[in-house]
Amino acid sequence: PIRTRFAPSPTGYLHVGGARTALFSWAYARHFGGQFILRIEDTDLERSTPEAVQAIIDGMNWLGLQHDEGPFYQMQRMDRYREVIAQMLADGSAYHCYCTPEEVEAMRERQRAIGEKPRYDGTWRPEEGKTLPAIPEGRKPVVRFRNPVDGEVTWDDVVKGTITIANREMDDLIIARSDGTPTYNFCVAIDDWDMKITHVIRGDDHVNNTPRQINILRALGAELPQYGHLPMIHGTDGQKLSKRHGAVSVMDYPAQGYLPEAMLNYLARLGWSHGDDEIFSIEQFVQWFDLDHLTKSPAQFNFEKFDWLNNHYIKQADNGRLADLARPLMTEHGAQFDGAPELQAVIALMKDRFNTVNELAVAAMLFYRQPAPDAALLAQHVTDAVKPALAQFATQLQSIEWNKDAVSAALKETLAAHKLKMPQLAMPLRLLITGQLQTPSIDAVIALFDRNVVQARMQKYL
Ligand code: GLU
Repeated sequence: PIRTRFAPSPTGYLHVGGARTALFSWAYARHFGGQFILRIEDTDLERSTPEAVQAIIDGMNWLGLQHDEGPFYQMQRMDRYREVIAQMLADGSAYHCYCTPEEVEAMRERQRAIGEKPRYDGTWRPEEGKTLPAIPEGRKPVVRFRNPVDGEVTWDDVVKGTITIANREMDDLIIARSDGTPTYNFCVAIDDWDMKITHVIRGDDHVNNTPRQINILRALGAELPQYGHLPMIHGTDGQKLSKRHGAVSVMDYPAQGYLPEAMLNYLARLGWSHGDDEIFSIEQFVQWFDLDHLTKSPAQFNFEKFDWLNNHYIKQADNGRLADLARPLMTEHGAQFDGAPELQAVIALMKDRFNTVNELAVAAMLFYRQPAPDAALLAQHVTDAVKPALAQFATQLQSIEWNKDAVSAALKETLAAHKLKMPQLAMPLRLLITGQLQTPSIDAVIALFDRNVVQARMQKYL
């Protein structure tokens, strides 16, 4: 069975790149009916926080990336790591090294001075026929992995193709510090092994860790997972995506009025493609997703395209759902919903034109606040020349059926009777009824308001 994992370090928020990694890992497991595992890599005690764990889980919940197992916390697996380290010490695949950090640094200095690549010189590495130095009294050792000296590590990266690293490029990695705590690459390797991960999909900032993890797994006789390293995400300027480009935290997007289906659709296209398909549902994505169509070059996060997708999904979204998303924000803006048009109907009228729910909410405010038309604009649009027409229209509105078509018919009648053009009446009406000149089609706007509200707002200035 396919088993994938998402293994974030809880040191900040869930960023766009992390969410894309999670999405691809999740989709791959779903595609094959396998399992998706969430693992929290919290061994960096200084930087890991419970808030960050929560932020990651919130982000994944918002996107609907449900895990099947976990969350597992590395800090809760310390006994297991210690057990494997003891085993490796016993079978000789790891050894104690008593060098102090200062000694290792001095070693590196000497190597640099003679133009060699700095590396651990193997002082404490046991070899046949070699006598090790005397153990300095009272000194606590680190545990080093006995990395093979000859040969190379090769793996067929599902994204990047074959990657080969010579073993001599790699140090004898410290797998446990002198206080006994295990180190990063070791924990990852053991976890992937214990959790029976079949496909490790992660960012290509981890490419250098992979041969180290592979060597550890080999020493343990473990079966290797497949590895796939996703290229980084850049802004449209080709620079690594950062706050400068826009929000990089996934949870900033719901706050700005983006829908999760837009984010998922957008992330799916970041480094993966299915022909020319741009818009597809998450179900469709799961069906299509494979590792053969991942791109090798960095993906570009294009905020305009993301907006366009969000607009698409807003148009598709249920009006009740959009109303629920918009209402709290509008309340913050002082919206008065009592006696005002129904929000769902307003959203139905307006939603096509906005890229975010927040923009839609702000625009919808025109139905939910007392109009305060600007005096200069009133003077300009509500002229003596149009007042008689406005008065007639107001009278007509008292007796018509109350819907858009009837309002539209009454409007046309008034225009004809007074030989006016549509904007000559539409602009003053907008101003009187909503306080602003930009609104959706005025007949639709009028029909959404209560008849008495429209009357009162017109009469006030006639
Ligand atoms: N914890 C690592 C990170 O947050 C990911 C490790 C991995 O996927 O192997 O970047």
